[in-house]
Amino acid sequence: MTVPLPPVALPRFTLATLPTPLVQARRLERVLGGRLLVKRDDLTGFGAAGNKARQLEYLVGAAVAEQRDVLVTGGGPGSNFCPAAAGAARAAGMECTLVVYGDPPAVLPPNLALARACGARLRFTGAGRDLVDAAIEQEAQRLAAEGRRPVAVPRGGSSPVGAVGFAAAATEVVAQLEALRVEPAVIVVATGSGGTQAGLLAGLAGCGKDWRVVGVSVSRPLPEITSRVWELTQACAAILQRPPPSRDRVELVDARRPEAQARAIRRRRLALETEGLLLDETYTARSFAVAADLLATTDGTVVFWHTGGLVPALTALTGRLPH
Ligand SMILES: *Cc1c(COP(=O)(O)O)cnc(C)c1O
Repeated sequence: MTVPLPPVALPRFTLATLPTPLVQARRLERVLGGRLLVKRDDLTGFGAAGNKARQLEYLVGAAVAEQRDVLVTGGGPGSNFCPAAAGAARAAGMECTLVVYGDPPAVLPPNLALARACGARLRFTGAGRDLVDAAIEQEAQRLAAEGRRPVAVPRGGSSPVGAVGFAAAATEVVAQLEALRVEPAVIVVATGSGGTQAGLLAGLAGCGKDWRVVGVSVSRPLPEITSRVWELTQACAAILQRPPPSRDRVELVDARRPEAQARAIRRRRLALETEGLLLDETYTARSFAVAADLLATTDGTVVFWHTGGLVPALTALTGRLPH
């Protein structure tokens, strides 16, 4: 039996419809071999938020408990977190300011357009990606000086509290796999800012499972993302008041090379043509390509965690099909 995580005392603002389905992908199994289960976090059921709905339940929950009135966060122009945060802030009756790196584009990319349509204010830093989290803090301080009650959330929602959303997701998948009597060989998840993987690792450890989790790094070099995921895992476990996993559970592969991208695009087509499963090019097609490799080389069940990315997935298709 699994012990429920997180502790009930943690404030939570419901956004997602849970549990998300865990489904066997029989047609992909026929092509790729092995046993493949897909955790459908593209179906979390809040806007197009995908996995980000889980982090936001705890981030917004904390903000509501502290009576904050404006959520300040941000990311890149293609960030899936930005529109998810904008919608979640609205659902909780808060305003939202998004700090986006780079200069204002002539045409808003779809994710930013969606965020703005949710009423978010956009601020462009004119600077590079690394300065975004500092700019988010500055914007929050500016708003506080105006008498507002802002809450600053790091990009991607990857704070220890945000990661708790994925610790809860770990409990969810443990219950689903136990019901199926399946002990997975590996869980594969796309990793950007690290909170998703960290929460999963902390949650699995909290449930007493030392299952293998492979994070597929789409934006950061391995040394940087590995230490980041490890730090977030420990901080999340501390909130949960459970022991963290051992350091060697933090396993990542680099999917930033152009070859990885080319393979991902082929896998993306395969997923659509066999299962009608929609993947995006940045995150889920790359993590799915790694899951497909692991199916070929691993005995036992591979769980592919579909983290969403619906808006860019649809946008990338526009005009590309040969009819
Ligand atoms: C944000 C995101 C991830 C990765 O989540 P992190 O917590 O930032 O590592 C994976 N897949 C999709 C589609 C995302 O939007």
